[in-house]
Amino acid sequence: MSPSAVVWDPALLAYDLGGEHPFNPVRLHLTIRLATALGILDDVPVLCPEPATEKDLYRAHSADYLEAVKQAPMASWDVGHGLGSDDNPIFTDMHDAASLVVGSSLLGAQCIAEGRARRVVNIAGGLHHAMRDRASGFCIYNDCAVAISWLLDHGYDRIAYVDTDVHHGDGVQAAFLGDPRVLTVSLHQHPFTLFPGTGYSGEIGTDGAEGSVVNVPLPPRTKDSGWLRAFHAVVPSLLAEFRPQVLVTQCGVDSHEEDPLADLSLTVDGHRTIYRELRRLADTHTEGRWLAVGGGGYQLLRVVPRSWTHLIATVLDRDIDPDTPLPAAWTDMVREVAPHADLPLTMSDGGDTGYSPWGDGLDDAVDIAIRDTRRAVFPLHGLDPDDPRD
Ligand SMILES: [Zn+2]
Repeated sequence: MSPSAVVWDPALLAYDLGGEHPFNPVRLHLTIRLATALGILDDVPVLCPEPATEKDLYRAHSADYLEAVKQAPMASWDVGHGLGSDDNPIFTDMHDAASLVVGSSLLGAQCIAEGRARRVVNIAGGLHHAMRDRASGFCIYNDCAVAISWLLDHGYDRIAYVDTDVHHGDGVQAAFLGDPRVLTVSLHQHPFTLFPGTGYSGEIGTDGAEGSVVNVPLPPRTKDSGWLRAFHAVVPSLLAEFRPQVLVTQCGVDSHEEDPLADLSLTVDGHRTIYRELRRLADTHTEGRWLAVGGGGYQLLRVVPRSWTHLIATVLDRDIDPDTPLPAAWTDMVREVAPHADLPLTMSDGGDTGYSPWGDGLDDAVDIAIRDTRRAVFPLHGLDPDDPRD
């Protein structure tokens, strides 16, 4: 058994919302090229996905919605279901392309469940906004929800989902809102200030599953240090109590300070620190079982390729020193298509990833968010929300 694997197939680039849409598949292409140029994919098992079957898509979506997605490219009428909007434009073969994205995360989950790999990374996944019967936020089908649902049917009954995208992981939360077997945790920019407008600390789950939904809404301009303080104040304690068997993480990188669609202020160095922390949590709680998927990220040249190369490297235990120069083979390739791009020089932004633990007397907006989240869910897990040791 190989300890870690990467899901990839150039066919995943077909999930292309077209034109000037920010969700441009070049971000995946440039990431794989950068990871390759740095040598981190050398001798690594690459898992080649098949499209998810309809039976598996039904795990997260209604039959009506699947039919609408299939019909949409041919339809001359409004098919509804959130399709055909600026965010979710209709494109040729969208059912096939979106099914392949779901199949890619599902393959990762299956390899982990069957012991073929302990960790799997799939940067093409992470379409966390897709709802049961509608497209939302650039997401047609919800690969995260399908993969988790499959795991629930194949021997696992405690799955932790941690979503570090700048946007609330609303589709995954909605899929498992009343299911105590899935703990969904999302850290994101405050819903007052960003799509999708949900993810308040008071959203905690329903129907006997109270506490299985955790939201940490962070104020705009939160930096690495504040983000990491919030993460450490909430996530490790909850995972220790929940005792997950598998960790699934959505690793969107639109929390970066240069991202054009949102207003958090993280750096590539902060992202790298987050991935290393997620790996540590998987090693601590799930015997290393970790499915890491991508998500948002719209600074296509300067941020996404570096951040997700760090993600792939972390999953593979081939951590890259932040001061590593960007390989000329990669920057030359980017300059061929974007001659005037202002590219960074190294795998670092020079970000400061130190942070003060919560409970040290600070009282800024991040600390208020931490307090609200802890008070909303910690007692439901037998934890003291006001004791920093919990
Ligand atoms: Zn996002």
